[in-house]
Amino acid sequence: MKLLSSSSSISISLFPSLSAPPSRKPSTRISIRSSSATMEGAEEEKKRVIVCGGGVIGVCTAFFLAKKGAKVTLIEKSSIACAASGKAGGFLALDWCDGRAISKLARTSFNLHRTLSLELDGSESYGYRPLDTLSLSITEQDQTSSGSKSKILPNWVDGPARNHNTIGTIETTAQVHPQLFTRTLLSFAVANHDLEVVIGELERVDIELGRVKSVVLKDKGVIETDSVVLALGPWSSRLSMISSLFNVSALKAHSIVLIPKDPTAITPHALFLTYKAANGGEPMDPEVYPRPTGEVYVCGMSAKGEVPDNPEEIMGDPESIKVLKRVAGTVSSHLKEGEVEVKAEQACFLPLTDDDKPVIGEMPNVEGCYVATGHSCWGILNGPATGAAMAELVLVGVSSIVDLTPFSPARFVKKY
Ligand SMILES: Cc1cc2nc3c(=O)[nH]c(=O)nc-3n(C[C@H](O)[C@H](O)[C@H](O)COP(=O)(O)OP(=O)(O)OC[C@H]3O[C@@H](n4cnc5c(N)ncnc54)[C@H](O)[C@@H]3O)c2cc1C
Repeated sequence: MKLLSSSSSISISLFPSLSAPPSRKPSTRISIRSSSATMEGAEEEKKRVIVCGGGVIGVCTAFFLAKKGAKVTLIEKSSIACAASGKAGGFLALDWCDGRAISKLARTSFNLHRTLSLELDGSESYGYRPLDTLSLSITEQDQTSSGSKSKILPNWVDGPARNHNTIGTIETTAQVHPQLFTRTLLSFAVANHDLEVVIGELERVDIELGRVKSVVLKDKGVIETDSVVLALGPWSSRLSMISSLFNVSALKAHSIVLIPKDPTAITPHALFLTYKAANGGEPMDPEVYPRPTGEVYVCGMSAKGEVPDNPEEIMGDPESIKVLKRVAGTVSSHLKEGEVEVKAEQACFLPLTDDDKPVIGEMPNVEGCYVATGHSCWGILNGPATGAAMAELVLVGVSSIVDLTPFSPARFVKKY
């Protein structure tokens, strides 16, 4: 990758680690050369797009933009999929959003996940697989239910389960490993298209005569561009041009990743629980996702919170982690402490908007500045359709695969 400073040309290789390089920072103004001044032939025609944020939404957008022939620079302040997009469950559902504004987005994206997995060998490279999904109720220390041997409950779910139902099948539910998915898409686009990654922090977007001119990176200078896409997840409101129009809040949720001693005992069944703790209190709704990697992912325990500046500083609350471990051990004797290695205890923030709909579209009154955020608990599912639709919007002015009108940031413009 070449970053040109005013005095020298510096080459930094970001792959294969995809993490922040050591501090070889260019200290002066960075200028990705303007196509008209220095490039020839087909290069000259390419639209320059900067995508800010290396979560699933930014990466999917960068992937489809690059595939469609744009010259893309992805800017990430920490490392790719370091936040919710790396720590999510990765559960996908075809029709669970039916009846909501995101129904078409979700259905399109579910199908795009299937296509992408064929194109990128997703079952090998990022654990894509269709799976069955069950709902069940569990009460801790319930002696009267013995993990009944019903036909729908797999053998490894041997805790005190009741009210079990099939709520998804291999036709309608699937999963990916979200961090591997995000990183695989990016690696593919870097290897095959015109996409480069810059580790740096977006400070602001500069506008001239109502149109995007450049982005300014903290301590790293300025990059000129034709368009910019802001995909900053729960950090979106840190940018005043976004917070002056709409609010993105953050919900903190916890997860653990367990490796059971005998992973072959665990079948591909996602579990959605209604869980009552022995000491009473409100029922909780944790989720359990076995992965083809042999890991079992358990998440839940959410609360509104303030996102720290640095995504690497997001820590799980020990009490919440303890509860998730108890949930796992109650659901299955294979997941009890002592029977598992604990691979990860973590937390992350999902981005929420005030009207519960994602924001995907061009910012009003700023030509060439787009935003994609607020995907709440369905960002991994809706990443591909968001990215594909955004790429069309940026490059041809309208999205044909999903109508983005309901998601336009213009809905937040106050009408007096
Ligand atoms: C516990 C949990 C489980 C989940 N499970 C699922 C699931 O099973 N299925 C599903 O569909 N969804 C799930 N989600 C939701 C999903 O994870 C999110 O909707 C999605 O990851 C949001 O992606 P994003 O790219 O918008 O944000 P993020 O993943 O937060 O990425 C934003 C990126 O922007 C970067 N950034 C921020 N500020 C700057 C800056 N100034 N300059 C440069 N870079 C910056 C950050 O470092 C970060 O990498 C889950 C979420 C949680 C918390």
